[in-house]
Amino acid sequence: MVSQYPCTLTQSLQGLVERNKVMLAARFYEHMLADPNASLILSHDEVKSRLGSSMQAWLVRVYSVSPTDDCMPLVALQKQVGEVHARIDVPLHLVLSGARHLKKLLFQLILEQQWASEAQALRLASETMDLAMEIMSHAYSRSHDRNSRNEEGYRLFSVLQNISTERERQRGALLDWENSLMFDLAMGSNGVNLPRLAASDFGLWFRHKGAYAFQNTSESDQILKIIRHMDDVLLPMFLASMHEQETRMRLLRDIRDQTKSLMFNLDNLFNTANELESGRDVLTRMLNRKFLPVVIGNEIAIAQKTGQTFSVFSVDIDNFKSINDNFGHEAGDAILQQIAEILSSHSRAGDYVFRMGGEEFLMILVDIDSANAMKVAQKLRRKVEAEKLQLTEGRRHQVTVSIGMATYNGHPDYQHLLRQADQAMYQAKQGGRNRVVAYGELTSPE
Ligand code: GH3
Ligand code: MG
Ligand code: MG
Repeated sequence: MVSQYPCTLTQSLQGLVERNKVMLAARFYEHMLADPNASLILSHDEVKSRLGSSMQAWLVRVYSVSPTDDCMPLVALQKQVGEVHARIDVPLHLVLSGARHLKKLLFQLILEQQWASEAQALRLASETMDLAMEIMSHAYSRSHDRNSRNEEGYRLFSVLQNISTERERQRGALLDWENSLMFDLAMGSNGVNLPRLAASDFGLWFRHKGAYAFQNTSESDQILKIIRHMDDVLLPMFLASMHEQETRMRLLRDIRDQTKSLMFNLDNLFNTANELESGRDVLTRMLNRKFLPVVIGNEIAIAQKTGQTFSVFSVDIDNFKSINDNFGHEAGDAILQQIAEILSSHSRAGDYVFRMGGEEFLMILVDIDSANAMKVAQKLRRKVEAEKLQLTEGRRHQVTVSIGMATYNGHPDYQHLLRQADQAMYQAKQGGRNRVVAYGELTSPE
């Protein structure tokens, strides 16, 4: 990029930046500190002691690339700065707004010089800064993705190292708390030493680790709410009602119910954790939809590299509700397991089967074009149709599936592909079920 400009111009610009680096860095940080978001991260002292001089050095480095220079070290520098920003969570938009401000200052300086090649100098100054920002944001976003994956991994790891042991330990801790509470109450405790749930082993574990590992779940919110309600409302009320037998009995029952509810929510959380740990759906053993973005993102990257396409099938069991209605939920579950088994045993080792929820599956067929994908989809449809599936008590039943198919066409957003497959599946239902429809093609009944 730099080589389009005459050597003398690059040098003049370098000199200008070098002479004004103290002012530029100072004004840059003035601008940043004026922003309420930036001032949360930056402090005046830090700017004075450290950041000011690194900003000066950075400016000089960025504007020191000459046409003959190898710019790789500069790229490495930008990458490193981007990664650091991501790690310390400096919002990218702040960095970009700082860069914009720097550019404005530089433009003023250039105009003041009244150079003959002013227009070119302005372009060079602008392009250099833009390139630096481009490399930096690239490194930033890659590093940011990595960080959030790591964080999620850590969150689960911190609690799920051994799910079954932890589950039993926490169930035990909760029951211990309830027992000692009941014992104290039965002994007519005056309340001074009554065990508070938040401070019990269970409360400590949940508030510090459980809530962290299971954040953003309704169960977790519920558990925290119950802990507070127990400590702040129920126990004080119980103590205040020492001589009202009826109220005390009602409160005791409330406490029991709340403990049960805690246990229920805790079990739900651990069940989900179990699924997540293996990445598989508990009922069908197929992949959990949570991993779909990672898997499909990976397939898109492979397709972009190799030029091979892949296909996505949205598979929905036909009239599944009537199976539940006629034969019961257990029979419905058995059917789900058998369909999942058919889908996975008749696809190749590189293919994926996800359970998206309910009676819907999503398959990814790798390294395949749409004509061959259509053949596979038809084969799967026929296999399901031909199989006499087992219900409960030795009864058998035939079911069918509708399949919507979409083939990767270079669109980088995977949601696009999933939407196409869903639309095709919907068309297959409209067309009479037990059929395959490829997105963008007419219904093909056979
Ligand atoms: P369509 O052909 O249009 O797809 O009809 P459908 O009956 O298959 O679709 P609908 O969406 O109306 O009903 C899906 C049913 O699947 C409703 C729900 O009770 C049942 N279901 C969802 N998850 C499970 C499960 O894990 N086990 C069982 N047994 N049934 C489930
Ligand atoms: Mg459905
Ligand atoms: Mg269905």
